[in-house]
Amino acid sequence: MRDRVKARNFDMNGNRYKCDICRIESTNAKDFINAYLIADAFAKQLREKSRESGGKFADSPGNTTNGLLLCRTCDVMFEGHDLEVSGKGGITISKEAMKNPSFKDAINRIKKYKYVVPWKDHIDTDVFQFPTSAMLEWRKTLPTALSKRALEEMGEYQDEVSDDEKVEELSFRGEPKAEKENGEMKTKKKARTDNKRKR
Ligand SMILES: [Zn+2]
Repeated sequence: MRDRVKARNFDMNGNRYKCDICRIESTNAKDFINAYLIADAFAKQLREKSRESGGKFADSPGNTTNGLLLCRTCDVMFEGHDLEVSGKGGITISKEAMKNPSFKDAINRIKKYKYVVPWKDHIDTDVFQFPTSAMLEWRKTLPTALSKRALEEMGEYQDEVSDDEKVEELSFRGEPKAEKENGEMKTKKKARTDNKRKR
């Protein structure tokens, strides 16, 4: 998908690259990042939506329709959901991002072009295969890829904790002799286990 998204941008902009959000230009592709509209983490839901509503959603995150070529600043704002693109191509930026000096230049460019993406007129057309309005609106409801990862990590962490609790309970119940040998430590453990049970 990366190559197709770059080629689309290059063709549209007369043999140079322009950020798909703030329109900063460069002839060096390395100045840009290929961003996913819908993160890989939501691939399953994306495929379901694609099946249910023929053509309104990409059938996989690797589809060109799911990609944007962004400058590094816009990528940071976009990934963090500090910058959102509506189904009609309008750009909104969070108050926090508006205050961030490192985003200032990009935001000024966005402002200059009246807070709309350069591919506004290609939304829901087949010409350049830009994100569809349905995908853009869906993205706005999704947690950031970062917080999704964070949630998953928390989930794993919680599982580990509950496994530890099980182990602790088992060893406590199963080793009354060990408790006598090392009374102080086990007493502490017992207190902690009891507290957990009360909750
Ligand atoms: Zn940009």
